[in-house]
Amino acid sequence: MAAMRPEYTIQPKARASLLLIYTGGTIGMKQDPTDMTLKPFNFNQILEEVPELAKFAYRIDSYTFDPIIDSSDIEPASWQELASLIYERYDDYDGFIVLHGTDTMSYSASALSFMLEGLTKPVIFTGSQLPIGVPRTDGKENLISAVEIAAAKDSNGHARVPEVCICFDNMLMRGNRTTKVNADNFRAFRSENLPPLAEAGIYIRYNDSVIRKPADWTRRPALHMNLDTRVSILKIHPGITPGVVENILCGKETRAVIIETYGSGNAPSKKWFLDMIRKAAGMGKILLNVTQCLAGSVNMTIYANGKALEEAGVASGYDSTTESALAKLFYLMGETPDNSMVMKMLDMDLRGEISR
Ligand code: ASP
Repeated sequence: MAAMRPEYTIQPKARASLLLIYTGGTIGMKQDPTDMTLKPFNFNQILEEVPELAKFAYRIDSYTFDPIIDSSDIEPASWQELASLIYERYDDYDGFIVLHGTDTMSYSASALSFMLEGLTKPVIFTGSQLPIGVPRTDGKENLISAVEIAAAKDSNGHARVPEVCICFDNMLMRGNRTTKVNADNFRAFRSENLPPLAEAGIYIRYNDSVIRKPADWTRRPALHMNLDTRVSILKIHPGITPGVVENILCGKETRAVIIETYGSGNAPSKKWFLDMIRKAAGMGKILLNVTQCLAGSVNMTIYANGKALEEAGVASGYDSTTESALAKLFYLMGETPDNSMVMKMLDMDLRGEISR
């Protein structure tokens, strides 16, 4: 992805200073009259559509990705751009807002949560289901709430929410707990296994007991840029065949496999299936069990079918989303070539991504 450049500043003298990073997504798209599809448009036009932002006494600088993209085109390279930009400009701002397409927002927010360790400032992702230029857009409210939350401080002058979050439809959720659940509705995201960090009504109510705080407010975060993306996802379903399972589990390129299982972590108990799991584990593949359910947790001790997976060498993903499990694997595998170390770290709650 090409270099990003500062473009637009509003309110030069202000109490809080924020960096608004525009990567693309519906929020800034317009219908192309030639083929009627939605395509990204210029960022300055977005800010012109939200004059309410000027009412905050904040300095808001902006950066635009070049090119701006539909988030279906997001790649780990975009996360590296984003993480390094935030890291480089960390001392200049009180908070960061990332405008991003909804399709992969949960993946990106999860990735950033692992790449930026020990945050003392908010990194708030938001976007919209309807472009900001249309009358019933949800983009304005989402952006205004994200801006207010990104600037919010407690009585000690510390950020209210020093985490990577998604702000959408009046909910502030921990990014690595979210999943996109609706393609049409304004409530596009859910965080089923963790209550919201804040809710925006007449007031913004912060759920302080859930918000993570850094061990040391004076320390800059650590930046983790290495990502090893050799991960496959095996979604279990009735009728799955040995050939398909083998291709996914034992592929030469694959270092880790997320196994999306039923319910509390169950998979078929057929001999060929368990043999295949054992074979992959014997080849040194990292195998991680994540449930297909939106809510709840893997617990491989409840059913014999789950227990068999555990005994075959599969690690528990607990109540992780698939998006977060993928990001955690990319990050951990980028940190070390040692698979047993990765397995050990998978079992730990690193960024509030699992409940243990
Ligand atoms: N395709 C769009 C994107 O993810 C959808 C959206 O923004 O809601 O970039």
